[in-house]
Amino acid sequence: MTIQEGQHVPGKTQFAVDIGFTEDLFNDYSYLWFKDGVLWLSFISSKQKGAFRTLMQNIEKLGLIWRIPTPMGRMVEIGIKQGWSLFIEYDEDMEDDLEYFTNEEETEDEYQERMLRESVCHSCGGTGGEGHVCEKCGGLGHD
Ligand SMILES: [Zn+2]
Repeated sequence: MTIQEGQHVPGKTQFAVDIGFTEDLFNDYSYLWFKDGVLWLSFISSKQKGAFRTLMQNIEKLGLIWRIPTPMGRMVEIGIKQGWSLFIEYDEDMEDDLEYFTNEEETEDEYQERMLRESVCHSCGGTGGEGHVCEKCGGLGHD
């Protein structure tokens, strides 16, 4: 299946129809955005119980990489229950950190980088740094 780059609103493109993203099941402010091989799901709001779950299953069946940006409320509960990865990445357009659920997996490098970012320095209690070197105190405070 070829997917057109850009926006897909419920029922308005062939791709939307094919994956069950239709007007009877989803509110019209919901949309999908396909760019650089990644399907972004924004403000997804379903009108029927189970519609969102079916949509995700259809997307997974196509083997697509998807991301759900800035999850809030019910979406956070769903993501945690499903065991989805939650990534935080600096977004140049937004000039801020962007949080998203995704079916991507972290590479070993990304994992190491995150562990370092989240690890607490033994010397000063600060976080962040490069290698074992602490960004705050300059000591070798990180494991
Ligand atoms: Zn330190």
